[in-house]
Order: sequence, then C-alpha cells, then structure tokens
Amino acid sequence: MTKKAIVLMGVPGSGKSTQADFLANKLGLMHFNTGKHLESILNDPVNRQKKTVIKEKKNFDTGRLVTPSFVVGEIKKKILSIAKAGWGVVFSGSPRTAYEAEKLAPFLEKLYGRSNIYVFFIDVPVAESIKRNSKRFVCNFCGAPLLTKFYPSKNPKYCPVCGGKLYRRTLDNPASIKVRLEEYKNRTKPVFEKLRKRGYKIINIDGTPPPYRVFQKINVHFKN
Ligand SMILES: [Zn+2]
Repeated sequence: MTKKAIVLMGVPGSGKSTQADFLANKLGLMHFNTGKHLESILNDPVNRQKKTVIKEKKNFDTGRLVTPSFVVGEIKKKILSIAKAGWGVVFSGSPRTAYEAEKLAPFLEKLYGRSNIYVFFIDVPVAESIKRNSKRFVCNFCGAPLLTKFYPSKNPKYCPVCGGKLYRRTLDNPASIKVRLEEYKNRTKPVFEKLRKRGYKIINIDGTPPPYRVFQKINVHFKN
C-alpha cells in the first residue's frame, strides 16, 4: 500500500488526536501529535536550562503557539525519521500556522508524494470546543482523554482505558483555552488558504458526533 500522510485540522478539542489514533491503528500509520511532542521536549528535564526551551514553554503553557521556526525544526526531524523507517503518518496539530504549512507542505510532498497527502477539517463549533476543553481530563499513562459526556463525574480519578491517573493539562485552564482559540482564529485559519492555494482539497467532517461515528466518516475516504 502507498504510504499516506494525513493532516487533521480543527479547533482545540475537536478530537484531532483521538481520530489520529484511530487512523494510525486502522491504516498502520504513525500518529504524530505536535502538541504532545512539543510538550515532551519542553518538559524534558534535560532541556530545562535552555533559553529557547524556557521561552517556548511559557508560550505553550499559556496557550500561545510555540514559535513556528522552532516547531518546524522539531517536526522535520521527527517526520524524516518516520518516513525513513518506512511509515506513513497522521498529524494532529500540524500545521498550526501559515509559515508551518509553507515549510511542511513541500517537505511532505517530497517524502510522500502530493497525491498521497490528505487534509481533513474536523468541524466543531467554538462553544462546543470551550465546553470540551474546560472539562478535559487526560490519562497520564496512556494519554486517552476522558469523554466526560459518557463518563459524567465532577472529579474523575482513573482512566477507563488503562486505570492510570487522570490529570488536567496546564493548557486547559479557562484563560489558556481563550488564548488558544484566539490563536487558532488568527494564526491557524490562514493555513486553510495556504493549502487550498497549493491545490489541496480540504475535506470537511462534522466533529460533533461521538468519536467512533466521526471516524467512520473519515474512513470512507480510504476505502476502495
Ligand atoms: Zn489510560
């Protein structure tokens, strides 16, 4: 099977990372979660003293976007190793800026071929995004988010998938969520224009149904 590169776009809390996990499992791709990747670099004790890391960590924790040139450098390293190992890739959280799109699109095209790159927009209204983010609990072991809609609890403690401890991410506090939505509007939305100009078709998917339903709608595009 030809190696694919799938890009999932959407507001914070639209379920990009959950869908990327599904796609990775079903289609045998590597899930590249930009946010998580950056979080691990920025929180790595080895990097703690580095000036760029201190500055970027502050951006990250307050909901602002990490500087695009820093992001692009880190992502390129990672994609190259994924492609070299012979894997296809699904992105949740990249590109986040027009700059990133401009730098990553040609890079991906060279590695995977233009016709094997798919772009989806998981459409979730802003109000729903706020609701989801302000109630978000994530497992600190397996990374699964708790779907509070299906597991209603004021103070959930354990992950229903693996029993690990749930935590609230620093970037999911109300102030950061507001900043993230602003950043999305001002800096991520222009990505669509960039990709369209490059000839990409952006496939719209309603992101409000339960994740398994959303997945079925995405997966239709990969059934022959
Ligand atoms: Zn878990």
